[in-house]
Amino acid sequence: MLAVALTAIYVALPWIRINGNPALFLDVSRRQFHYFGLTFVGQDVWIAFFVLSGLGFCLYYVTALLGRVWCGWACPQTVPLDFAHRIERWCEGDATQRRKLDRSPWSLNKTARRAAKHTLYAFFALLLAHVLLSYFVSLPHLYAMMRHAPGENFGSFAFVFLIAGALWFDLAWFREQFCIVLCPYGRLQSALIDSDSLVVGYDAKRGEPRGRKGTAGAGDCVNCLRCVQVCPTGIDIRQGLQMECIGCAACIDACDTVMAKIQRPRGLIRYDSRHGFEGKRTRWLRPRILLYTGLAALGAIALTFATSTLKPATVSLTRVTGVPYVVESGVVRNQFLVRVLNKRNAPVTFQVEIADGPQSLHWSGAEGGIAVAPLGEEIRTVVLTLPRADLKTELPLRFRVLSSDGTIIEKPATFLGPIIP
Ligand code: SF4
Ligand code: SF4
Repeated sequence: MLAVALTAIYVALPWIRINGNPALFLDVSRRQFHYFGLTFVGQDVWIAFFVLSGLGFCLYYVTALLGRVWCGWACPQTVPLDFAHRIERWCEGDATQRRKLDRSPWSLNKTARRAAKHTLYAFFALLLAHVLLSYFVSLPHLYAMMRHAPGENFGSFAFVFLIAGALWFDLAWFREQFCIVLCPYGRLQSALIDSDSLVVGYDAKRGEPRGRKGTAGAGDCVNCLRCVQVCPTGIDIRQGLQMECIGCAACIDACDTVMAKIQRPRGLIRYDSRHGFEGKRTRWLRPRILLYTGLAALGAIALTFATSTLKPATVSLTRVTGVPYVVESGVVRNQFLVRVLNKRNAPVTFQVEIADGPQSLHWSGAEGGIAVAPLGEEIRTVVLTLPRADLKTELPLRFRVLSSDGTIIEKPATFLGPIIP
């Protein structure tokens, strides 16, 4: 059910609109990133460092506490694979029926089942690839592109084709080999898990020695091998915790079904800590968990501080290219370009002031303020004039840009001209 819910969220996010934009829209071409009502522009991307490192750190924390629960329940590799396993079961039956079908010669029945399975894989892969593209181009643009020939949007077409092809290969053949061979997190888990972390394990004290039900002295494991048959990575969990175990819990379900049939308590294979399986008490609060909690709190404080320093606009000031100043009729003239980027998703008028100048300094070019469209950018030429006789030295100034919410952004500048000692 969790896989269905997570996939539904993934598919639904581009449809949900908050503040006029999709809940998650990474508009790379315009360098605008919409995230649940918040909008970030290219200059704010550094904040992603805190977000991504924070998410990575949370993964460490969860692993130390709950083992590979991320791998088994929420990983973007595991979730689509859950659908692939369902499709496989619909088309080819359970594990025993599939093995029988594998061994059987090619027939109309086998061809039809295989064709149906791969068609559904391809459809699912194409659906996920199109949804992924909509995160970058928005749904209306995606529809528009789908109504035109592939050649007209070749880059996007190639993107969908490559992603869907890779997904299809993964769902149909590569599968859990990705977890075992490629995933770096799988390698890290042995360093992150300790004897008190929650893992999928086999209760050897209860299950051994194995034997048929009713055999004198036998434990609860009837050696039916159902847990091995359903394991997507092909391991025998009864041999202890192994790096290949992705924590999918398929063996728990299989063994519980067997236990129900032979009228024994469920949980011969279950979630527990290694200390729990040894009959000892599981310690939830331990030094590494407390350390991770402290570090997580520090990270949250750093992220909050970093976010609070974000300004609703970016202002840049440059001198107009060419001569740095002009002297005409006893007046010195300097020209500057003021560029204002509105990072808000609403129109804002920015007022401009010149601070620190003498009374005889005049300026023009942005007297009524600079009106900037939502997420838009405006450039104004601001002309400063000063009687030549008043310029005794290079004159430091400050351009002050004020937004309607009270934010003030200041930029230093220097008024240049011929100096009269
Ligand atoms: S499914 Fe349970 S009973 Fe069957 S072999 Fe595995 S552990 Fe033993
Ligand atoms: S041992 Fe169990 S939990 Fe681990 S991968 Fe195999 S089926 Fe999944």
